Amino acid sequence: MELQPSISLKRLNTFGIDVSGNVATVNEIDDIGRIADATGQGAAFILGGGSNLLFTKNPEGWIWKNELHGIEIADESDEFVWVKAGAGENWHRFVLHCIERNWGGIENLSLIPGLVGASPMQNIGAYGVEIKDVFQSLEAIDLTNGVLRTFDLQECAFGYRESVFKHDLKGQFMIASVTYRLRKKKHELKLDYGDIRKELETQGISQPGIADVSRAVIAIRSSKLPDPNVLGNAGSFFKNPVVSEAIEQKIREKYPELAAYPAGEGLKKIAAGWLIEKAGWKGFRRGDAGVHSKQALVLVNYGSATGAEIWQLSEDIVRNVEDTFGVLLEREVNIL
Ligand SMILES: Cc1cc2nc3c(=O)[nH]c(=O)nc-3n(C[C@H](O)[C@H](O)[C@H](O)COP(=O)(O)OP(=O)(O)OC[C@H]3O[C@@H](n4cnc5c(N)ncnc54)[C@H](O)[C@@H]3O)c2cc1C
Repeated sequence: MELQPSISLKRLNTFGIDVSGNVATVNEIDDIGRIADATGQGAAFILGGGSNLLFTKNPEGWIWKNELHGIEIADESDEFVWVKAGAGENWHRFVLHCIERNWGGIENLSLIPGLVGASPMQNIGAYGVEIKDVFQSLEAIDLTNGVLRTFDLQECAFGYRESVFKHDLKGQFMIASVTYRLRKKKHELKLDYGDIRKELETQGISQPGIADVSRAVIAIRSSKLPDPNVLGNAGSFFKNPVVSEAIEQKIREKYPELAAYPAGEGLKKIAAGWLIEKAGWKGFRRGDAGVHSKQALVLVNYGSATGAEIWQLSEDIVRNVEDTFGVLLEREVNIL
């Protein structure tokens, strides 16, 4: 455990917002009691890699920074391996660790920033794969009584960028470890999302394995998304909205090129980035807060934007998209 009162959080969030706060590092589960005793308080919130949040002010109380490490095989069969990872493990390094051992299932989720512990929070997803597809269980500490509880797939109530931890149990648990069920044998790869097939072709690969898919995803992501180490951002700022077919049709009458996908009976998922771009926001900049020039779904900090400025920009986009298309955008990023 380490207690750091009133430090800058600029390096602890990928938006690079310069706020300050009290940070308590949790290196082992027993630290939780020690930190509560030493600070006289519970956790204000849990911090992972800071890649899915926006600080709009100096957070109050003590932030608990998750640094619970370790990767182990929990179980194994001919077909599967169940891998348990500490919540403080870096997600992308964990993906590479699994690929090196030829454990498949998460190769499409390569290069997503952040830590293992946050992966179930919003059921991270990319290129046709979500964490729920390989999720076995997780262990989380109940912050009200310090008791370790196991959650199975059903209890996590995963949805599109959703889980029970963002809603009914918000702020109640600190995820300590996650167990994933990965494939040991050759399995059907998901290549039909984004430009994966095209990228593999460009690389001259006709019989790809999981390492090839991972490399292709890394190449695509690196060319499309801004690197937070260079330009502050938190990935997709908004979720892709799900609307009725009637609303989708109405938009399509005016814009036949609308990008929309089936999302259940009578429903369509629309690309939020497309709506924002069509509304004219792509590349927009106000002070140091802006909309990325290649991907309108990503809001960026050119250097010294405050969280409040980025939030205001997001609010202006929400209002404008609603006025233009009649679609209400929802933020994916956690606002603090
Ligand atoms: C360039 C870029 C690209 C991205 N691409 C994608 C993508 O393709 N798909 C996708 O799904 N996401 C994407 N993201 C968003 C982000 O990387 C993920 O949501 C990631 O899982 C967040 O992890 P983190 O450790 O940084 O969480 P943080 O930002 O630190 O925390 C996020 C939320 O989870 C809570 N939390 C974190 N750890 C724990 C824990 N152990 N226990 C309880 N609560 C916890 C926090 O309190 C907070 O509410 C992207 C972000 C960036 C910057």
